[in-house]
Amino acid sequence: MSNPNYGVWRPMAENVEFNALESNSNAIMAVADTVRTTLGPKGLDKLLIDQAMNRHISNDGVTILLSLRAIHPVARMVVEIAERQEQLVGDGTTTAVVMAAEMIKEGKRFVKELGVHPTKVVEGIEGGIREACHLLEREAKKISLHDIALEQVVKTSLSSKLDGRKLSLLVISALRSVGQNALYDDSYDFDKAIMVLRRTTMEDRVVNGIVLERKRMDPEMPLGIKDARVIISRLDLKPVKEAWMKQNSKYEEIMNLENDRISKSKDIVDSLLATGANVILIASDEVDQVIENLLVANKVFAVRISIEEIEYLSRYTRARPIRMIDDLKRSDILGMIDHIYEDEDNGVIYIHNGSREYMATMIVSGATKETSLERWRAAVDGVNAAEAALNKGVVAGGGAAELHVIAKIKKLRMKGLEQVGLDVVASALESIMRQILTNAGYNGLEKVMAVKASPGTFGIDIDTGEPIDMWKAGVLDPLLVKTMALEAAGEIAKSVLRIDRNLAAEDLSQQALSESKR
Ligand code: ADP
Ligand code: MG
Repeated sequence: MSNPNYGVWRPMAENVEFNALESNSNAIMAVADTVRTTLGPKGLDKLLIDQAMNRHISNDGVTILLSLRAIHPVARMVVEIAERQEQLVGDGTTTAVVMAAEMIKEGKRFVKELGVHPTKVVEGIEGGIREACHLLEREAKKISLHDIALEQVVKTSLSSKLDGRKLSLLVISALRSVGQNALYDDSYDFDKAIMVLRRTTMEDRVVNGIVLERKRMDPEMPLGIKDARVIISRLDLKPVKEAWMKQNSKYEEIMNLENDRISKSKDIVDSLLATGANVILIASDEVDQVIENLLVANKVFAVRISIEEIEYLSRYTRARPIRMIDDLKRSDILGMIDHIYEDEDNGVIYIHNGSREYMATMIVSGATKETSLERWRAAVDGVNAAEAALNKGVVAGGGAAELHVIAKIKKLRMKGLEQVGLDVVASALESIMRQILTNAGYNGLEKVMAVKASPGTFGIDIDTGEPIDMWKAGVLDPLLVKTMALEAAGEIAKSVLRIDRNLAAEDLSQQALSESKR
């Protein structure tokens, strides 16, 4: 059955039908406006203040979004997408939000003003995004660990951050120090090889090895041990539980338990020492005081660690975590450490393994808590950008790569009104350069027009306002950050454009939903 008017949707009760789109899109614009002015190297910071008058200054999209109070439920989608972008690639969150807002603004225009059915717009957006990602992939260039391009990507990624120059040098030095050792299954995974620590009292620096923000279990333990043999313990180190003692009232029974506790503790420590270990990394919940005393008496270097720390400590030292006393008889459980020692002034423990230097720790300082937090985030972003760049390649930054795929996207032909979705994607692609330049004090639109006809990698020099080749200028972005941001933006835009009503519901918590009869 053909309907000549299929693509054009004329609702009966206009106000009701369109209210949701209008109010949802307004809410999203409001949220997007809070972060769009941070985009790019000249982006401005936001001062966040909570009800207790705590303050935090940030230039980081996700940080700002996550700290917003009282946010419209639909706009919260933006926050969730930004968060996901942060988790997946660790950068490009503001980019995603700016593009999402642009898509929704443009999409809404087609739906409202021209009466195009939302599903048509959405299909067009999907097609446009697919094509844009594809084109960007074709533009991308592979880079390797020693290319100057890697440094440029890191610098670009940190250019808008507090102290970005200095931090990028730190990040690059960490990247180079772990180098190829961060390769797992042919792709770089720096999360496994580089730890980033935030310490207000220490200087910026890259340490070869692991730095734990911990102290020895007891100050009477040795300060450091060279050529150490290490055990990672998940043993139950509380052989007799306190509760048992409390349940017993008879003196005799308590004494029995107490003796039991001492002998069992001694057995455990004897078994540990029998392996030859002199360093014990303890991830057990509780440790009996008797065991601790025996460890001190035997000059063992013991540190408490968390369950999360086991994985990389085990990888770095090659110690196999043990859970049962019987495991101690196995020959493969001991790990080796060249040197472990506590820096008492700074309250950290260093672990070095010269022979297998495949981990580095970046110590990021900061005069105040807030600057150190912001610098820490930036350093993590820089590492993530480098990882994405090494794994998937890089494209011209400053919004240039996005801008120059527009012409090709506009040439696509879709079957009908879906065509308008391509315009929506094109506006979003253009919005990045426009916003970066607007934030730098230019007339963004005018500058974008000026550079549109230039060759594929051209953008605007942020300092002079003149067109330049972004590749030559060394302004480079990881491809992955761009494609993920586009896809994330598309997800929000599609959901929002498809909603025609917001309804008040009874109870939508996960639990209520799963218990319902459907
Ligand atoms: P996001 O949260 O999206 O990562 P940023 O504030 O980090 O936002 O800005 C990233 C954008 O800034 C990228 O598009 C990047 O190419 C651009 N950019 C960085 N340095 C420059 C520069 N010197 N000139 C122009 N654009 C730049
Ligand atoms: Mg960034």
